[in-house]
Amino acid sequence: AAKSAGRNAIRFFDPAMQRMIDERARLQDELSHAVERGEFVLYYQPQFDVEQKIVGAEALLRWQHPLRGLLAPGSFIPLAETSDLIVRLGDIVLRQASERLAAWSRMPALARLGIAVNVSARQMHDEDFVARSLGIIRAAGADPSRLSMELTESLLATDIEATIEKMHSLRREGVCFSVDDFGTGFSSLSYIQRFPLSSLKIDQSFVATCVDNPRSAGIVEIVIGLADRLGLGHIAEGVETAVQLEQLKALGCRAFQGYLLGWPMPVEEFEAMALARVATSG
Ligand code: C2E
Ligand code: MG
Ligand code: MG
Ligand code: MG
Repeated sequence: AAKSAGRNAIRFFDPAMQRMIDERARLQDELSHAVERGEFVLYYQPQFDVEQKIVGAEALLRWQHPLRGLLAPGSFIPLAETSDLIVRLGDIVLRQASERLAAWSRMPALARLGIAVNVSARQMHDEDFVARSLGIIRAAGADPSRLSMELTESLLATDIEATIEKMHSLRREGVCFSVDDFGTGFSSLSYIQRFPLSSLKIDQSFVATCVDNPRSAGIVEIVIGLADRLGLGHIAEGVETAVQLEQLKALGCRAFQGYLLGWPMPVEEFEAMALARVATSG
């Protein structure tokens, strides 16, 4: 664009690119106001054991935008991750999840449920992450051992030593860690044994193809075997059909999450579903 603008014009951006930059700046601005105004809510997607009892939920962030309605994280998390906004958002998520756990601990039927929150690299790599997180969990009166943090492989691939230390500090207080979208990132197996992990989340791409594609069925089986062998739990994400569920069970899978079993839903809906379907023993 700079070249084609003619010899007298010095232009670094074409109008379309300028619009994109303006739009980004506007969204960034809106996001930080939304943080102040408290426009963020958590949706809860149930997680099931092999008997299809609910054992917990993944908390998934939604932005209740005053004009544009309910927005999924794909439309604002990547931008939030380019600044410390993601750290403030992460605190909001952890606070809401912890308050929910504290509330459930006073309801005998829900007291055993866990909540998983997603943690971005920039959050984890923030210096105060451990102290702030524990402060938030304690202030809410939540039991840290009901909380788990989902980390991506790319997070685990940077700043490794510091991350291991932070994870140990939180693990000592009871917080669990799982690897989200396992198998899609840096597939170095050597790190898995170095981090204090509790569970592997089998990525939805393997689940989506495990019925028709023997290779992906093989991967699912191997990941479960790997988790078992390392003393880790596992869960399959993105289970959408009954056929997938049966196939996953045949491959040895014992924990499930996906639209077939339950969509991400507002907390009241999740609690109603959980009251009917909760695991009462084990
Ligand atoms: P993720 O952690 O891998 O979450 C799973 C995503 O798959 C969620 O999308 C969920 O709604 C969707 N999903 C669940 N079951 C199914 C299914 O059966 N089929 C399909 N096709 N999709 C399913 P969502 O809520 O849009 O979140 C997208 C991503 O945004 C998450 O991926 C996570 O990486 C990120 N995210 C969500 N909440 C937070 C948060 O509080 N903090 C951070 N840092 N990231 C978050
Ligand atoms: Mg996740
Ligand atoms: Mg995932
Ligand atoms: Mg994902």
